[in-house]
Amino acid sequence: MARDIPVRNPRTGENDYTIQAAEPAELAELAASMRAAQPAWQALGAQRRGEILDAWAAALLAEPAQLLDALAADTGRYLIAMAELHGVPGMVARWKEAAPRLLDESSERDSATPGVGVRDNWVPLELVGVISPWNFPLLLSMIDAIPALAAGCAVLVKPSEVTPRFAAPLMASIARFPELAGVFRFVPGDGATGAALIEQADAIAFTGSVKTGRLVAEACARRFIPAFLELGGKDPCIVLPSADPADAARIVLRASVQATGQACQSLERVYVHDTLYDSFVARLVEGAAALELNYPDIHAGHIGPLIFARQADTIEAHLADARAKGAEILCGGEIENHDGGLWIRPTVVVNVDHSMQLMRDETFGPVIPVMRYTEVADAIRLANDTDYGLSAAVLGEASEADRVARQLNAGAVSINDGAMTTEVHDATHDAFGYSGLGVSRMGPSGLTRYLRRKALLVRRGDARDMASMDERLAVSQ
Ligand code: NAD
Repeated sequence: MARDIPVRNPRTGENDYTIQAAEPAELAELAASMRAAQPAWQALGAQRRGEILDAWAAALLAEPAQLLDALAADTGRYLIAMAELHGVPGMVARWKEAAPRLLDESSERDSATPGVGVRDNWVPLELVGVISPWNFPLLLSMIDAIPALAAGCAVLVKPSEVTPRFAAPLMASIARFPELAGVFRFVPGDGATGAALIEQADAIAFTGSVKTGRLVAEACARRFIPAFLELGGKDPCIVLPSADPADAARIVLRASVQATGQACQSLERVYVHDTLYDSFVARLVEGAAALELNYPDIHAGHIGPLIFARQADTIEAHLADARAKGAEILCGGEIENHDGGLWIRPTVVVNVDHSMQLMRDETFGPVIPVMRYTEVADAIRLANDTDYGLSAAVLGEASEADRVARQLNAGAVSINDGAMTTEVHDATHDAFGYSGLGVSRMGPSGLTRYLRRKALLVRRGDARDMASMDERLAVSQ
């Protein structure tokens, strides 16, 4: 018996949708059918798989209305829903182009061992499980699923129970491509469903919180399957003395509050040199105060609602803790309830320090704490004073910014911009600290991590026989 899970609408606060969470037995049955379908998908070859994925992505874009509406209902925003959708064909095109090259097995190379040739045989994992979060429901399902499909795997996605509406129209579009329909599925459910998926899959690509990531890693370790974990962040931005304060304020504002700050790579701490601090903060507040909520009209304004209601509690707790310890909120700072939906305006906070949760834990809202520094070495030390290490930003003269970026403990550093990992997907990078684990989803490893690398070891001359194992050979040498 499937369990009913009510789903809240972020614009109204009402539970207006229900999913039936798959039970473990049901999921096991689905996994078995996908494993049975996978060899035929693999046998199509990289070129043909790419063509099918391409045709499916084109069809998705040709009739986008239902998917867009579902995604907008899931997230309470429209422009980003469109960006998520329009990102799919680009992702498909990139892996379609790369897969035949990455999967090429045609050549034999010389081993360092004389008389031996080595050929590669890439064996895709049969069933990859993707567990995705609520902040970019479509994008963060596709980013791991598409390269796994391109590699020849079957892919079963468990989207977040907070934003599951998009899965139904997506499944309907997949169903129109018979080769794909058996190997690319979505299963509705919550954490228990995610846990059951781990029991069925050959690898898990997980995007979500550190807390859940730890549970996923433990469960995968018990099964000896890889866990690719993309987790939270507390990204710092260092504004160097050489930066232009107006440009820096403009960049920081966008990179902190786009998607209402509900992005892992949002800038969540800003360290500004003493000489430009006042000018920077004045411009940041001016820019922040000018932004509008996308309420009542979803097609107006810049700031969407909080997608997950409980995130409002975290944001309020971080702000209350900061205020109690002496921080000052210059704009925003209040959770606003409009017709049941929860919004918060861009919030600039000063007089902050590292005793505050706001500077240590992931806030995941449009909140920008700004701290003053005088020595660049101190800014670097503060930026690295964190459990996380997802990404970071440095603003200022290019060579100085490069020097500082190299000293930051983060997987990707944007130079003279912020949060560039949202748009740059072909640069391999690892997470530092608790921000993740396992081979990078970015760059070629985003596909090759789904392959088992088998080596075919070819003896080119005569193979040794047991005469070579005669103990008397040792005496005669
Ligand atoms: P979450 O960890 O609460 O949930 C993520 C997914 O895990 C959901 O689908 C959930 O149902 C599932 N899940 C819950 N318990 C599980 C269990 N025991 N076993 C298996 N699956 C389980 O995360 P969230 O709140 O949905 O997403 C927000 C978090 O995601 C933030 O911390 C954010 O920083 C992070 N994130 C990271 C990246 C990245 O690329 N590094 C990108 C986006 C979001």
